[in-house]
Amino acid sequence: MKEIKIKTSKEYSAIITSSHQNLIFQLEIHKIKSCFIVTDENIYNLHRRYIDLLKDKAVGIYIIEPGEESKTYDVISQIYEEMIKKNVNRKTAVIAIGGGVVGDLAGFVASTFMRGLKIVHIPTTLVAQCDSSIGGKNGYNFKNIKNIIGCIYQPSFVYIDVNFIKTLSEREYINGLAEVIKYGFICNKDFFNYIEINKKAILERESDKLIHIVSECVKIKGNIVEEDEFDKDKRLILNFGHTIGHGIESASNFKFTHGEAISVGMAIESYIALKLNLIDEKIYYKLISILSFFGLPVKCTMDVENILEYVKNDKKKTSNEVKFVLPSKIGNAIIIDNLKYDFIYNCLNEFNTIKIV
Ligand code: ADP
Ligand code: ZN
Repeated sequence: MKEIKIKTSKEYSAIITSSHQNLIFQLEIHKIKSCFIVTDENIYNLHRRYIDLLKDKAVGIYIIEPGEESKTYDVISQIYEEMIKKNVNRKTAVIAIGGGVVGDLAGFVASTFMRGLKIVHIPTTLVAQCDSSIGGKNGYNFKNIKNIIGCIYQPSFVYIDVNFIKTLSEREYINGLAEVIKYGFICNKDFFNYIEINKKAILERESDKLIHIVSECVKIKGNIVEEDEFDKDKRLILNFGHTIGHGIESASNFKFTHGEAISVGMAIESYIALKLNLIDEKIYYKLISILSFFGLPVKCTMDVENILEYVKNDKKKTSNEVKFVLPSKIGNAIIIDNLKYDFIYNCLNEFNTIKIV
C-alpha cells in the first residue's frame, strides 16, 4: 500500500493498493459513519464486493447507466431526490465508485447537496485512477457542451484499488495508458523509461506494475494540482496531445476514444515539436514506438481541415494563432502560444503523408 499526500487548500491522501481491506479503516479515520453510494451498472455487477463492504454504513445507493450520456443535470437531480428520500444529512459522505463519469457526477452532487458533503473517490478505470480522481474537478454536460457546469471540490481521500483495472476491457485499459504515457513523456523521464522497460508486464496488467504506474501518475498530477489548484495556468501542461486530440475526437464523431485521439494528438504535436527543432527524431520515434507497442493509433486519415476547424472552435479562437504544449525533451514540455494555423495545417498535411512506423 502506498499513500500519497496532496497538499491543496484541503490536504488529502490517495491510497494506492491492490486490496479492499483498508477501506473501512480509512473511513473510520475520517469519521465517516454513514454514506451514500454513487456507482454505475457495470461496477455494480462486477464489483459487488465493494458495495457489500459498505452495506453497514450505506443509507442509499444510486446506480447510473454507464457512459458520458449520463452526465446531465437530469441524472444529478434524480440523485438529489434519492438522497432526500434516504434522509441524507450533513454527516453523510458521498462515495463515488466508478470511472470519470461517476466521479464527475458524485463530486458535483457532494459539493452542492446541503452546501457540501464529504466525498470519497474510489476510481475504477485507469484514467480515473491516474488522472481524474485527483484534483477535485467535477461537473456535467449542458446543451451539448462538455463539462460546462461544475466546480473544484477536493475529496476527503481517494482509495485506489488497482484490482479494478483487471476487469476493464482491453480498449478501456489501453485508453488509460495513453494518459500514462503522456505523464512520463512530458513530466518525468525516469517514469517514461520505466514504462519502456516494463511494457510487456504493463500490458499484462501485473499488480505491482499497476501500483507503480498509478502512484507515479498520482504524484505528478498531485504536484501540478498543488501548484495550480484552481486551474489558472500550470495544469495547462497536461494538455499535451489534447489540442489536436480534442479536434480528432470531435471530427471522428467520438469513434475514437479519448485515449486513442490523444495518442494521435501526441504523435502530431511531437511532429510539430520536431519541425520546430524542439526535439530530435530519436525522441519523436521513442514516443511513436511506445504508443504503437500498446496498440494506440499514431496516424489518422481524417481530413486535416476538418480537424483544424474543431481545434479553432474548441479554443473559441478568433485569431490565427493557437497555443500548444510541446515536448522539449523527455520529461519536459513548454507552452508555445503563437503558432500560426497555416504552419499547423502544413505540419498536419506533411504528417499525413510520411511513413512513421
Ligand atoms: P473514464 O472517463 O474514467 O474512462 P467512464 O466512467 O466513462 O470512464 O467508464 C468507461 C466505461 O468503463 C464505462 O462503461 C464503465 O461502466 C466501465 N468501467 C468502469 N470501471 C470499470 C471496471 N473496473 N471494470 C470494467 N468496466 C469498468
Ligand atoms: Zn485527457
